[in-house]
Amino acid sequence: MMVRQALHEATQYLKQARCDNPRLDAEVLLMKAWEATPTQLFIRALDELPQKVHENFQDMLEQRYQRQPIAYITGCKEFWSRDFEVSPDVLIPRPETEHLIEEVLKCYPDQDAAYDFSEIGTGSGCIAITLACEYPHAKILATDISEKALDIARKNAAKHGVLKRIHFRQGDLYQAFPNDLSPLDILLSNPPYLSLQHMDDIEQELRYEPRIALTDQQDGLSLMRQILSGACRWLKPHGYCLVETGLGGLPETHKPLVLDHPYYDLAGILRGGLYHHKAL
Ligand code: GLN
Repeated sequence: MMVRQALHEATQYLKQARCDNPRLDAEVLLMKAWEATPTQLFIRALDELPQKVHENFQDMLEQRYQRQPIAYITGCKEFWSRDFEVSPDVLIPRPETEHLIEEVLKCYPDQDAAYDFSEIGTGSGCIAITLACEYPHAKILATDISEKALDIARKNAAKHGVLKRIHFRQGDLYQAFPNDLSPLDILLSNPPYLSLQHMDDIEQELRYEPRIALTDQQDGLSLMRQILSGACRWLKPHGYCLVETGLGGLPETHKPLVLDHPYYDLAGILRGGLYHHKAL
């Protein structure tokens, strides 16, 4: 079958599954099946699709028809212009989480300093690894409750050459922190913040993602509250705690941890908050 025709049929097929961007999905999957760049796909539009590639493409289309996320089918997702391996053991990195990186860069513009950072619930490792790449002298502790997620994060850290500067530890929230951890310049987290109620009407793709990375099974803020209320024990005086959030908003905190400012995504929606440790 001709490439152009295969793409047309695939698009129709994915439309039936009510995918949001059927044409784009079909192109991305065909590029993956053929290991082709967008330009190569374009110039091959009138070529015959090789049999083997066609078979791989069909397999991927069937997965997508079941509304599996593209990133789980291709096994990778871009974050802050770098590629990360992903699997159903980790949350798929979201573009809006890049705002978290922007906030760190605004807090600490000197990228050559030797900061101590820590991330709770690292998942694919995209946040911790991006920070390790952007701050080549920083030391980072990255934790997750899931050992399987940490396996993926370690692979991603190795791929980006920062495995030596990130200490990965398994455990629930602060239980994963070693007692002798150096005081932190910034503690950050993109915790599970969807409420249990919200989980009833999530889109089909989200059902493939790890539930423990999406929801606290309560009001969506319980883990964030625990992170914020424990933060000062680990922060330097004047260190920061940065969290991503969703519809639940930002929890109140008590002195000495005070909200410095909320931040918003490109659509103007509240996305997170930067809290400041105002120690005397
Ligand atoms: N950002 C995800 C979503 O709304 C939720 C991930 C999370 O809870 N941290 O789809």
